[in-house]
Parts: sequence; structure tokens; C-alpha cells
Amino acid sequence: MCGIVGYLGNKNALGPVVDGLKALEYRGYDSAGVAYINSDSCTVIKRVGRVETIEKLVDKEKATPHLAMGHTRWATHGAPTTVNAHPHFNHDKTIMVVHNGIIENFQVIKNRLIELGYQFATETDTEVVPHLIEYHFKQSGSFEDAFEKAVSELEGAFSIVAISSLALGQLFAARLSSPLVLGVGEDEFILASDPSAIMEHTKKVIYLEDYELAIISKKGYKIRNFKRAAVVEKTAEELDFDLEHAALDDFPNFMLKEIFEAPQTIKLATLGRIRPKSGTVKLGGLVDVKDKLKEVQRLIIVACGTSYYAGLVGEYLIEELAHIPVEVQLASEFKYRFEPFSPSTAVLAISQSGETADTIAALKKVEGRNMLRLGIVNAVGSTVARMTDAGVYCHAGPERAVASTKAFIAQVCVLAEIGLHFGNGKIRDRKRFLQELDSLPKKAEQLLTQVDKIRQIAEKYTRFSNFLYIGRRYGYPCALEGALKLKEITYIHAEGYAAGEMKHGPLAMIDKNFATFAIAPDCQVLEKVYSNISEIKARGGPIVAVATEDNRQIKKLVDDVIYIPKTIEQLNPVLVAIVIQLFAYYAAIKLGKNVDRPRNLAKSVTVE
Ligand code: GLU
Repeated sequence: MCGIVGYLGNKNALGPVVDGLKALEYRGYDSAGVAYINSDSCTVIKRVGRVETIEKLVDKEKATPHLAMGHTRWATHGAPTTVNAHPHFNHDKTIMVVHNGIIENFQVIKNRLIELGYQFATETDTEVVPHLIEYHFKQSGSFEDAFEKAVSELEGAFSIVAISSLALGQLFAARLSSPLVLGVGEDEFILASDPSAIMEHTKKVIYLEDYELAIISKKGYKIRNFKRAAVVEKTAEELDFDLEHAALDDFPNFMLKEIFEAPQTIKLATLGRIRPKSGTVKLGGLVDVKDKLKEVQRLIIVACGTSYYAGLVGEYLIEELAHIPVEVQLASEFKYRFEPFSPSTAVLAISQSGETADTIAALKKVEGRNMLRLGIVNAVGSTVARMTDAGVYCHAGPERAVASTKAFIAQVCVLAEIGLHFGNGKIRDRKRFLQELDSLPKKAEQLLTQVDKIRQIAEKYTRFSNFLYIGRRYGYPCALEGALKLKEITYIHAEGYAAGEMKHGPLAMIDKNFATFAIAPDCQVLEKVYSNISEIKARGGPIVAVATEDNRQIKKLVDDVIYIPKTIEQLNPVLVAIVIQLFAYYAAIKLGKNVDRPRNLAKSVTVE
């Protein structure tokens, strides 16, 4: 959540900071702010709303500082107001702080500081930080020391950047469980929550690890581990991050653009990895652990949100293709659950951003247990990618819209590849499977030509305020994901259900005002899905279904049908995903919602 940028260098620092905030705005967008130091005083500008508002205010100031920082907020403590927006500062505005994450022990620190006479102006957890730094500065007289002491006291998750008129010409940063990257350019340094705000300036980066702090000046940077109170030697590495300039091209928003990238996404997720002719799969990212993989007898997939639903598709895929028992757990639950593991259990974390706090926490839980930790990640070089033993990148390119679309598609493709990789020789029709995977980009393209029809159907269903998405087998996780997509961007109440469960409760809700979206492409249990559809129809429920082309029978059972090209059952989720994404998208547009930035949400969920 939230985007942080800090700049120190020869340029007018406000340029890179504001541009960086724009690149990071997808991470949080309820308010924004910047602080800078000109000669020897700090200036802060913050407002509710978008970075654009800040940009205009910054332009008016006509300041040309060489040291500045900025923040786009996703509120966790205190309403999204201008007062609660970052940067936060101490009473005499000499210390400025921006923060991403949650300081879990802020109340204890706040009470202590209040007793000492400190006054608080905001409801945020963050505000304790500038006051705490001031407190320590008064004791030691050294800002560096005060910063280190202050961050050492904090618990929870944070990336913090600070500037101060008490330490001119220096930029301070610290990290615990929240991402922070330092770009090292020619005569300039840029700190950011992710590399997209750094790329334009330099490709040399240093990823700060947990408990590391950085002190940056014109002369260079110093990194310390504040837990061990020791210096850490780190050199910059070359950023392996193919930042396709995320321009909208002719699309009205990123979500539609990203849905339309599905064919390309499938290609990139399979490129060089699948060999349909020989029936082989080559996953370079798993080569180093190939012996350990052979010993895996149980796989636990941990993930959140859309990645969790991709994981559920993966459960069906890997069990069927590799005959290994798989269970999928919500990362937020996995962390706090007691369960016995053996070294033959591997954990597979799935995360688009690779910075999802819950998923990182789940990986930390199994640290030191001699268990293999694998990852499926989209953002190259992200925390999950770096903390796992091995993994497979999605290569879906940056995903800007908050609701995940192409990442789900890439994750499912990668899970199919992992299933085949694990299950070497276990399924007979391997070649057929790979041929189908290979032909999916074309089928996705074909499907996207039906966009007008999907739009018309979606618009028709916007009059309903309740939706059930139902499916069986591979269609079940698709139903869950379809309901999530609708909730996220239209705010319509939707639930995903295993179609066979309808009669155990949810059927009671069905009437003419309660719509159902049936996931009914060709599959082993299509007849059973038909029965569940008929049960809903018999109770007057309106139904829209997604089915495989040429299925005429379904037309008689439901009100509307969206057809997808024919593929094997195991790969239906990739094509179904495009339909449910477009359906939610056009419903949201019809309802006048901001599809790229739905209310209350943010991309890259870096708080637990
Ligand atoms: N917890 C802080 C707040 O509510 C930071 C949230 C964020 O990461 O944007 O202001």
C-alpha cells in the first residue's frame, strides 16, 4: 500500500518526486503530499485526492530544492483527510516523515510521548515517528543516532523516509516488512516503494532488507542493520525490470488495457518454457532446486485475493497433473495457524506484486524449518522473489489497475507449467495439454472479438444488487474470482459458490431479483452444472452463463450465454477469466465507477 519517493541529487528534487508518485499512485490514492528542504527550512504540501492536485500546488511554489520526498496514502489509521495525509512532522516542523505500513505499537509510544508533553495533530500511527526522532535527537544531539533509535523502537510493518532541517543534505530511510528500493544514479539517489519510480533515473538499485536503514548524502550512502546495530556492506545491482512504459495507448483505462493484454500475457508466461512437440516443460527458475523438488510430498500454496483463487485452480491442476496433494491457504490465516509440517512439505507463495504483507509473513513462518519455499511472482526482484528458494516469474508486465486481471491469467498458466514439471511422465496426454496451452493466445484473441456482446449483457445485469457465481471443479475457483471481480469494481454484492453447494443453503436466497452467473464451459461435470442451473431457474432466478462455443443446449436453460472457444477443461479458467473480467468491467463502467481505482482499495497490499 502507499507509494513513497525520496530524492537527493543535482536536479530539482520535486520533479522526480512528483513523477515518482504518479508512477506509484496505484498503490494508494486517498491523499498525497510532498516535503522538501530549501536552504535550511522544511516545507510541506499535502491534500486529500490525487497527485495531480499536489503537482499543481508544487508548481505554484516555484521551489527548486535538491532534497525532497513524497507519499500517496492508503489510510489505515485515521480518515483520509488533509491533516492525516503524509508527510507528518514534529511541532516545529523540523522533522518530516513519510511512512508505508502500520506501526503496531504506536499507541504505547504515543502515550509515552504525550506524558512527556508532546502534542499530536493527527489520528495516524505515523505521527509518532517524527516526535520520537525529536525525542531521541534531544537526548543525543545526533540526527543519525536519533533516527536509528526511533526506528528500532517501532513494531509492525514500515518503510519510512525522513528529511530534516536538523540534518541538512541528508535523506534517511528504514525498512521492516514493507518494500523500499534505493536507486543509485550519477550524482543522484532516489528512494521508492518500487522500481517503477526509479527506472527513469537509474537501473542501479539496492533493495533494503528488513531492519536495514540507509543514510544518504551527496557523498554516498551508508547502510546499517538497526537490529544488530551494525554496518551492512551493500553494492548496487543492475535492475532486471522490464518496465514497459505503462501508457494507456488507445484504451480508456488500465483495466481494459490489461484485460486486452491477455493473449500477450499467456504468450509471455509460456514463452521458452513449453515444448508442445516433445511434450516437455522447462522452468529455468526451478533448476537449482530440482533434487529437492523430487522429495516434495505435499504442497501448500499460500496467497491472498485473486492470487489465492489462481492458487485454487493450481490445486486442481497440480493434483491432476502431478499427483501431489496440494492445499491452498489464505496467507493471512496460514501465518497464525498451528499445523505440523515435515521437510517433504513445500510452500508455494503466489503474489502479483511480490510485496503482499500476508504472503511474506506466511513465508517467514516457515523460515528455518528446512522446507522448500517456492514463489510465483510477477514483479521481478520483489520481496517474495528474493526470499524464496526458487520460483517462476509470471512475466505479465506491470499491472496498474487495482483489480488483478492479467496476473491471474499468467499465474494459472505458470501453475499449469509447474504441474507438468512436477508430474513429469504422470499424465499420458502431456503433448495435447501443451498444444492447448500453446494455442491459448489465439483463442484469447478470438474471445476478445466478442467484447461488444459481453458489454451488452453486462449492462443488462447492472440492475441487480445481488449476484451468485457458481461453478464446479475448475469452474469453482473461477466462480470465486468472478464474484471478487464484480465486488471490487462495481461494489455489487456477489458471492462465489461451488454449484453443488447451492442446495445446502444459498438456494434460499434465489428469486427474480437475485442474479446468478454460471460458469459452465465443457467439463466432466457439465450435466451436474446443468442440474444446478435448472434448480435456480425453477425458482425464478435470472442466469447468465459462460459456456463453450457450440453448446446450444445451455441456451434453453439460461437467459444469456457468453461463449468461449473450445479448449481442455484444465485450461478453461484462462478463457473464463477474460469473460468474468470483462463482465465486471462493463458493469462497473455502466455504473459510473472508477475501474482503475476502486474505493477503499489499493494495489500491492503491504499491510497485514
Ligand atoms: N498507517 C499509515 C497511515 O494510515 C500509512 C498508511 C499507508 O501505507 O499509506 O497513514
